[in-house]
Amino acid sequence: MVLQQALADLNAAYRNYFASRNGKRKGPKVEKPGFRSRKDARQAIRFSVNARFKVLPNGNLRLPKIGDVPVRWSRPLPSDPSSVTVIRDSADRYFASFVVQTGPRSLPAVEPVVGVDLGLKHFAVLSDGRKISAPRFLRCAEQLLKRRQRDLSRKRKDSRNRDKARVKVARAHARVGDARRDFHHQLSTALIRDNQAVAVENLAVKALGRTRLAKSVHDAGWSSFVAMLEYKARLYGRGFHRIGRFTPTSQTCSACGTKDGPKPLHVRAWQCPSCGAWLDRDINAAVNVAKAAGLAVTACGAVVRPGPALADRGEAGTHPKSHQKMA
Ligand SMILES: [Zn+2]
Repeated sequence: MVLQQALADLNAAYRNYFASRNGKRKGPKVEKPGFRSRKDARQAIRFSVNARFKVLPNGNLRLPKIGDVPVRWSRPLPSDPSSVTVIRDSADRYFASFVVQTGPRSLPAVEPVVGVDLGLKHFAVLSDGRKISAPRFLRCAEQLLKRRQRDLSRKRKDSRNRDKARVKVARAHARVGDARRDFHHQLSTALIRDNQAVAVENLAVKALGRTRLAKSVHDAGWSSFVAMLEYKARLYGRGFHRIGRFTPTSQTCSACGTKDGPKPLHVRAWQCPSCGAWLDRDINAAVNVAKAAGLAVTACGAVVRPGPALADRGEAGTHPKSHQKMA
């Protein structure tokens, strides 16, 4: 049964490839199915209903020829599954992924709409003025990853110890990925729940990934975040807009619409020459993203207090001793 399933998958892969070659299939070109790598530690097996897998009342999963497997469920299944895929990833973790039927879930309608500007300093800046700082998962874990990788490279090839070290590297990477995914899920769910429509800028992630910022760009993981926003919007019946990446979001005043040309990156706030509003660069961009998508947001979040005020002498000291001297 399982081998038949693998054959069916291969058949589907070839069908997609030929359809793509003939131009019958929409979307990006599909490559010829490739061989699996001997070094790829990821394994997957799929059981369809015909293979007679079964979810037991005690929560275990009964698989043909394997037996009863205990499962830690992440959520209850909304319907009877039509197939289950058991995956072992490179960190030696096992996952069971079910195909189920779900109806559209809807959330109560809400008023606000929001534009989102994605960046590196702040992961996201919202058109209502909120700034969400960027947790730098990979950067934080870099020390540990480096050590694990070094341990691995010191092990003899094809040895048992090398295999163990490889799993440790994979586990460290998996932890980074899990933390990032969790952050994306929480933020995207909150945005979709609290807003009737969400607009984001279509970023050139591939191009940015080739620059010096590459590591930070990939660490932020904008693409997977935007993909989450999109599918959650569809799932919950919210609006989702992606605006073109050549919309001049940082050149236009979000209060009056005057376009006053590009500004160097270090300019974080400026005054609009025609209406005199002080604008925060990031929030102004987020408001413009929302406006470009046709969402009605107010620009008030983008307007900031004029100029930085000088701090009092007491506030200005950063060293504890400067306070002592004053006393
Ligand atoms: Zn203006």
